[in-house]
Amino acid sequence: MPSSFHVKLNRPSLSRSGSSCQSDRWKRELTESFRDVDALLEALSLSHADIPDIDPTRQRFGLLVPRGFVASMRKGDPDDPLLRQVLPLRAERATHVGYGKDPVGDASAERAPGLLHKYDGRALLIATGACAVHCRYCFRRHSPCQALGAFEDRWERAIERIAADTSLREIILSGGDPLMLDDARLAELLRRLRSIGHLRRVRIHTRLPVILPSRITERLCEILTASPLAVIVVIHANHPRELGQSTEEALRKLHASGVGLFNQSVLLRAVNDDAQTLMGLSERLFDCRVTPYYLHQLDPVAGAAHFQVSDECARLLIDELRVRMPGYLVPQLVREIPGARSKTPIG
Ligand SMILES: *Cc1c(COP(=O)(O)O)cnc(C)c1O
Ligand code: SF4
Repeated sequence: MPSSFHVKLNRPSLSRSGSSCQSDRWKRELTESFRDVDALLEALSLSHADIPDIDPTRQRFGLLVPRGFVASMRKGDPDDPLLRQVLPLRAERATHVGYGKDPVGDASAERAPGLLHKYDGRALLIATGACAVHCRYCFRRHSPCQALGAFEDRWERAIERIAADTSLREIILSGGDPLMLDDARLAELLRRLRSIGHLRRVRIHTRLPVILPSRITERLCEILTASPLAVIVVIHANHPRELGQSTEEALRKLHASGVGLFNQSVLLRAVNDDAQTLMGLSERLFDCRVTPYYLHQLDPVAGAAHFQVSDECARLLIDELRVRMPGYLVPQLVREIPGARSKTPIG
C-alpha cells in the first residue's frame, strides 16, 4: 500500500467520511438482508426436505431477516429457535377460532393516525411501519401500518393530540420499529416531543439492538440522550442466543449513555417454552444490562396459532423461574386483552 494512502486516510475530512460510513453500516446491512427462503436455507445448509412445512409462496409479510441474525442460527438445524421465528410456514394459512387480524383492539384505540391511547398516562405512537425483520408471530402482521410510508405526513396530527392531552406523561414509540427511522427524522421527532411540557418520558420499543446492532451508533446515543426527557429502551429478545457479542456491545453502549433498558419477550412454542431457555435469556439480558420486563402470552393473530403455549404451561414455567432465580430476573407474565386498562397478569 503506498504511503500516500495512509496520509490521505489521516486527513480529517476523510476520517469524518470514514465515521459516517461506519454510522451508515446498518442501512447497508438492511439492504443485504435475506428475503428469499432458498438463499436462507442454503446459508444454513438446509433443504426443503428438512422442513417440509415451508410456505413457498411469496407473501406481503414475507421472509425478511438480516444476515447478522442468521449468523446466530445453528447450521443444519431445521428446529433452530431463531430460524423458527422468521421462517414462513404453511401452518400460517390455517384459520383458527379466536384468531383474527386485529387481536388487541388497536383500531378502536386510535386517537389520531398512528396514535394509540389505551392506558392512563401513556400513549403509543406508531413511528414507522417498517421493521428490520419479519417475526412470524407479530400481532401487527396484518395491520395497515405495514403499508404506511413516511411518518412525517401523519405526525403533525399525532403531536397536536399529544400536546392537547395533559394527562399524558409518557410516549411510547413503536411500529414497526422506531429505530428504522434515520437519525434526522428520529432527532426531529424527539425534539417535537421534548417541546411538550407535560411529558416526562419517551419509551422506545425496538428489536434493532438484537436484530441489527449496528444501528446503535454513538450518534444515536447522543440523539436519544439530548433531552431532559428520560429515555427508556425496551428491546425484544426471545432466546438467549439472540444476545450475541455485538448485541451486548450495543446494549452496553446504550446503558452507558444513560438509557433505561428493559426486555419484552413473547412466549413461543418450540422457541422459548422451557424453563432452561427462559432462565438463560434472563441471565444473558442482565449480562447486557437489560432487566426482564414482560413475558407476553401470544396475541391471537391469524397465522400464528402454531406458536401458542397454554396458560397452564406458561404459569408452570414462571413458577419455576421464580424459585430458581432472583425476583428481578423473572419477567411478568401478561396478556393483552382488548378493552382492559393495563396488560393483564396471568397467574
Ligand atoms: C402495551 C402498551 C402500552 C404499554 O404498557 P405498559 O404496561 O406501560 O408497558 C401502552 N400503550 C399501548 C397501546 C400498549 O399496547
Ligand atoms: S420487530 Fe416487532 S413489530 Fe416488527 S415484525 Fe417483529 S415483532 Fe413485529
